[in-house]
Amino acid sequence: MKIHKIDLRDYIDFTETEKIMSVTGERLLMFDAMTLGLLRRELIEMFGVFGARNVLTRFGYAHGYRIGETLRAQDPEALEVLCAGASHHLLYGATCTVDIDRKYLPNGNFIIKCELINSYEAEQHLLHFGIAEEAICWTITGFASGFESSRTGMETYCFETECVGKGDPHCIMLSKPKDEWDEATLAEQLPFYGISSANALLNEISDKLHKTQESLKQCRSKYDFNNDFFHGIIARSKKMQNIIDIAKRSSQVDSSVVVTGESGVGKEVISRFIHDDSSRSKKPFIAVNCGAFSDTLLESELFGHVKGSFTGANRDHMGLFEAANGGTLFLDEIGETSLPMQIKLLRVLQEKEIRRVGDNIPRKIDVRIIAATNKNLTQEVADGNFRKDLYYRLRVIEIDIPPLRDRPEDILPLAHVFLKASSKRMNKTVTGINSEAAKAIMGYEWPGNVRELQNAIERAVAFSDENWICKDNLPSELQNRAHIPTIASSIIPMQEMEKQYLLAALEVMNNDKQATADKLKIGLSTMYKKLKDYNIDL
Ligand SMILES: [Zn+2]
Repeated sequence: MKIHKIDLRDYIDFTETEKIMSVTGERLLMFDAMTLGLLRRELIEMFGVFGARNVLTRFGYAHGYRIGETLRAQDPEALEVLCAGASHHLLYGATCTVDIDRKYLPNGNFIIKCELINSYEAEQHLLHFGIAEEAICWTITGFASGFESSRTGMETYCFETECVGKGDPHCIMLSKPKDEWDEATLAEQLPFYGISSANALLNEISDKLHKTQESLKQCRSKYDFNNDFFHGIIARSKKMQNIIDIAKRSSQVDSSVVVTGESGVGKEVISRFIHDDSSRSKKPFIAVNCGAFSDTLLESELFGHVKGSFTGANRDHMGLFEAANGGTLFLDEIGETSLPMQIKLLRVLQEKEIRRVGDNIPRKIDVRIIAATNKNLTQEVADGNFRKDLYYRLRVIEIDIPPLRDRPEDILPLAHVFLKASSKRMNKTVTGINSEAAKAIMGYEWPGNVRELQNAIERAVAFSDENWICKDNLPSELQNRAHIPTIASSIIPMQEMEKQYLLAALEVMNNDKQATADKLKIGLSTMYKKLKDYNIDL
């Protein structure tokens, strides 16, 4: 056994001021074994065992070769003492090599048989993948091969004959100049050192990349990702991107969908998107607002009627279910339907056929239902206002669209979309929103959601005399909010908020205490008490 005479710890420099470590003048980075183990796992999962082994072997080889070259230039004596690069393995913590046997060759080189003690690679491979079928200390043998090739100046390879990673008791490595190895071993091992295999891998990867790019391009032509704008839906926020994602997946199946969310959030837009993206897209998408009709009228609208079935029914009339055949029927405000109407809808969903009012002939229909509501249907079911069976029949997929105030990232992009559209429609040249107006838009809660924003922008475009929207063009409810603290900035004590709100309200009302108290729906004496409490001196 050979005892190493050089302590490589002496070769590491710590530059205290720059917090940099270096070895033989080269910057040294430290990775823990687990990180490298994770890298190995990523490589194997991404490129397969062959690809990962190729990369890690060549990485090790390049590392060993460079260390050899650096040492040769800086400390040739140390290089010879280090000999098989053994102590370098010790230094970098990868393993510790101990010579078992060393045979001298006539040309001055050796055949070295050594043990790799505590190989981190074997340890990490076992941890992530369990016992392998072949030796797996790829980086270490690569390093040794590179180092030895550099040191001896002739192609030298180090391969494992035994490896802990494949269940052997020890990792045993054999190092020989290339021509001392037999053909079969070289044929088996050298591909992992070769650039040709790396090229093959690279071709495979770029081929995959090309295919991915192609499919991405196809997606892009369908949805304009650059503007976060899909079929009229702005989705810059994570929340809305999730909604788009669910909607896209919903379009791939034919189940009923319930879309919930506050008024004006865009429930119909999402429903239309699902239809357009589905196999039914060539057939009609028909929307009906269930809340807008009386029961009798809604029944006739949905199912149709025959001539003479009721007063005023002068001719046969086809209902919306039939009109939407093959396509999608969007039942908005489903929560507004009466219990008897709900039974009729349930029957259609179960039997997939309708009967026109005043008619006994069943007509087969093939319609996908998307229902929407701003009510809490679970609560409606609990309160007995909505049939449980219909609810479960409809709610195979549920999409809950968040209100605009919960996705502030979408507000300005949406405003710009509406601005562009309104400006074009009104033949105006309004192209932007000035910063004061943008601030007011962002500071507002938008209780009416996207629809309210759209109306506000349309109004502002109509009122604007410039090439941009300014604050004065916005509806009054937006103008009075500039001083009210928004929760986004920071959370402040309740009393402080009330004080600031009071000050803002007074300012808006030109310090008219009576008018402000009226607006705030508090008595004048309460107003005076609060002014006193908050030390507001007007
Ligand atoms: Zn091994």
